[in-house]
Amino acid sequence: MIEVRNLQKSYGDFAVLRNVSFTVARGEKIVILGPSGSGKSTLIRCFNRIEPHDAGEITIDGERIDQKTELTRLRCMVGMVFQNYNLFPHLTVLENCALPPRVVKGAGREDAEELAMNFLHRVNIADQARKYPIQLSGGQQQRVAIARALCMQPSVMLFDEPTAALDPEAVSGVADIMASLSADGMTTLCVTHEMGFARRIADRIIFMDQGRILESAPPEVFFTQPRTERARDFLSQMI
Ligand code: ATP
Ligand code: MG
Repeated sequence: MIEVRNLQKSYGDFAVLRNVSFTVARGEKIVILGPSGSGKSTLIRCFNRIEPHDAGEITIDGERIDQKTELTRLRCMVGMVFQNYNLFPHLTVLENCALPPRVVKGAGREDAEELAMNFLHRVNIADQARKYPIQLSGGQQQRVAIARALCMQPSVMLFDEPTAALDPEAVSGVADIMASLSADGMTTLCVTHEMGFARRIADRIIFMDQGRILESAPPEVFFTQPRTERARDFLSQMI
């Protein structure tokens, strides 16, 4: 379980996160929506300390995430997938996936590659294992990025606009994978601007504006009866 309590973060005078509090149950799929600049990326980046928070608390499975958290350990607990895949261009698909367990966990090459092949199968891309990222489509690269994150066997996965660079068919492939991860009990937090995708994968929508959470509701409630004027405005612009 994840617990976020009174999380605050500023850049200089600008408060990006203002007293953000919420909990996430094990295996729950949270989708974070909100206008550009509302603090969505910053919020999920605090989970793996790409961004350190200023005040408040994040705990994952009872462990507090702060400046004392060993980053190696955190990388094993929390995986992250970005909009632009961020694969290493000079490594093959297989090497991209095998590298993190080797570097972070000290796994041997053979074990790491076996693990990598398992997860490449998991995202239906094992047949491309010997290719380089540039030889793959965007959707395929994103699936490799997901496999690479899974190779660390994290208990939480963070996704920051994982489908933003993909065509509709590839979006649906990534959604299928996220749905199957969650069926396996993975806890996921995903930022997206795509409402169809959000509806499809979310157990719960968190809506942010100006560094605050304004709504937290199941998608069928959020999309049909948003409580706040701000969310109604936001949704009306999406159609
Ligand atoms: P988008 O939907 O456009 O990705 P977001 O909700 O993810 O937006 P964040 O990236 O979390 O928004 O940014 C929140 C605010 O913090 C923005 O106003 C942004 O300009 C500011 N910000 C983000 N990173 C930095 C930084 N390193 N230095 C200063 N300001 C920053
Ligand atoms: Mg963002």
